[in-house]
Parts: sequence; structure tokens; C-alpha cells
Amino acid sequence: MKIKSVDVIPLQIPFEDGSPGVGLMPTKWTKLDIALVRIETEDGLVGWGDGFAYSCRRATVAAIEDMVAPLLIGREINDLAALNLELQQRLHLHGRYGITIFAISAVDIALWDLKAKTEGVSLAKLLADKPKTSLPAYASLVRYGEPDLVRSFSAKVVDEGYSTVKLHEIALEAIEAGRDGAGAATKISTDVNCNWSLEFARKIMPEMKRLDLYWVEEPVFPPDDAEVLGALQTEYGVPIASGENACTSVEFARTAPAIHYLQPSVTKVGGVTEFLKVCDLAERHGAKIMPHAPYFGPGYWATLQLMAARGICEQFEHLYVTPDAYLDPSIPLPEKGVVAVPDRPGIGFEPNPSTLDRYRI
Ligand SMILES: [Mg+2]
Repeated sequence: MKIKSVDVIPLQIPFEDGSPGVGLMPTKWTKLDIALVRIETEDGLVGWGDGFAYSCRRATVAAIEDMVAPLLIGREINDLAALNLELQQRLHLHGRYGITIFAISAVDIALWDLKAKTEGVSLAKLLADKPKTSLPAYASLVRYGEPDLVRSFSAKVVDEGYSTVKLHEIALEAIEAGRDGAGAATKISTDVNCNWSLEFARKIMPEMKRLDLYWVEEPVFPPDDAEVLGALQTEYGVPIASGENACTSVEFARTAPAIHYLQPSVTKVGGVTEFLKVCDLAERHGAKIMPHAPYFGPGYWATLQLMAARGICEQFEHLYVTPDAYLDPSIPLPEKGVVAVPDRPGIGFEPNPSTLDRYRI
């Protein structure tokens, strides 16, 4: 396929989540930032992707426009894995990871969307003979901070049919409230986002075992210290998950032998190409994939396709917030803890033009 154009559409969509809105992002979090990429081929096919943009939308947009797009326009592209590696090499002087890889992720997703559309099949079918048609999904609650809110939201999502709940709570009282609200039959985990010191982690991990946590996510900083994470997992017998902030399979190679759950984020890790490599790595080390996917643009759709194709992926993350609008109104949202995998050609994402106009920045 020959690339005619690469356009970036920056968007912000307000959302409601019933929380005080602090704790997860550097500033109060009220809007979903999106760096949406639209790639068109000479044949008139359009592919969609996005790069991670929460709190860094302008940086990701600039990286796509100034660094990546000029390397694609007018190119004949067939081998997407080779192209991904070429982009990594040509851009490595901007810093191997972070925003550079977020930008590469965006175009990689759009190019895989195009490749599957060229073949007339869903991405899952392009990648696997018999992909799954639906996936288990868990409710990924935001950080409420207040135990009463944690308890009531945990109970609410279980009432809605979720059998797994992820908290973003870091205090024991709040995590206990989550267990209380969700009930003993529900799987619960907590995402610490690296907020515990190692000393505190050692105090609280026995409590995580007592509360029967499904996994503890990014308990300490840095989240790629394989030795520390592996020791916590072995010592306290609770699976550790990490990897949403790791870029490329190179960074996962460190933690893959040490922890149970690897968490590639398709909009951060290097797109579909690097996500697949992380799945291969997990298979070699006997780890599982619990993808990071707290977004609602093409990355959401690409994650569904990848999980459908690769059986090593365990549960889909559904960020439990209510956006003002979904870019593609046909988005398959979980129902009773199960999410359908779209079977349209490509990743399945087709944005509504008037929604793009309304939320474009
Ligand atoms: Mg996380």
C-alpha cells in the first residue's frame, strides 16, 4: 500500500466518573485527551490509530506530525514489522521511548488497520485462524480515595454483571472497602501506579494476600525493577502486574521472567507490532498478558482485536467512566462483564465526523 497522507486530529472529550478526579494524572483529570491519526492510501483506503495522549496530547500530536508522518508520506509499505523497526531506528535520537514510541504506536495501529482492510478481514482474523468473538472484561475503577465511594462503586459494577473489578486504591482501608463492596465471589485487584515505597509494600502485601487480590499492579517505583517485583510476588504469593509504561518488547524482556502479568498498552508499547512481540515474549516465559487499555479510541478497538487473536491475553480493561461521547458510536461496551469483538474489516473503528468536529481541539 502506498501512503498518500497522514493527518492528526487532536481531541478532548470530557467524562464523568463520580470521583474527586485527583490522584491518577498530574493534574485534576476530567477530559480524555486523544491524538487520533488518519492515514489514507493512494487507493483511497483509510486507517485509524492513536498514540497515548493523556496529559501529553500536544506532545504526542507534534511527534506524529513532525517526526513520524514525514517518514511515511509517499512510501510504499508492506512489511509493517520492518517499518516499525525502521521508525524506531530513525527516531532514536529523540529518546528511544516515551513520546517517540507513543507516536510510532499511533501510526502502527493505523497501518495494521489498513493492512486488514486491504485483505477485507478484521485484524483478529488477519492475525489468527480462529479468533475469539467475545472477551471477558473487567471494570477498571478510577481512584476515589474515599472508602465509601470505593465500596459503592465496587458493588455497583458487580450488580451490572462484572465478575472482576480493578481498583486504583493505594490505602488499605480503601482496598478493604473495595473487597467489601465487590463481595467475596468477585475477583479484585488494585493498581498502585507505583505509589508504595518498598518498605510499605512489604507491610501491606500480606493484607493483599488476605484480601485474595487477583493481582497487584505497579506496586512500587520503578515499575521495571524485575528483581523487586519478582521478590514481592514470590514472597507474598500475590501475582504482580506491570508494563503499561514499558515501551517495546525490549523493555518487557526485563520483567517477563519475573512477574505473572505483562501489561502492554497498544498506544504506548509501539502499536500492534510491538504488542505482538510482547505476547511472544510472555509465551516464552510462561507469563500472561493483561493489556492496559483505559481509552476509547482506536487503541480500544485494536486491543480487542489483539486479544481475540492471542489466547495468552486474559481480560479486557474497561475504564469505568462515562465520556460525553464515543468517537465511534458503535463501540462495543462490556455487557455483564463480556465485550464483543467487532468483525468489520480492520480494527473496526469508524469515527462519526460530527463527533470529531465537536471535540476537536
Ligand atoms: Mg495501570
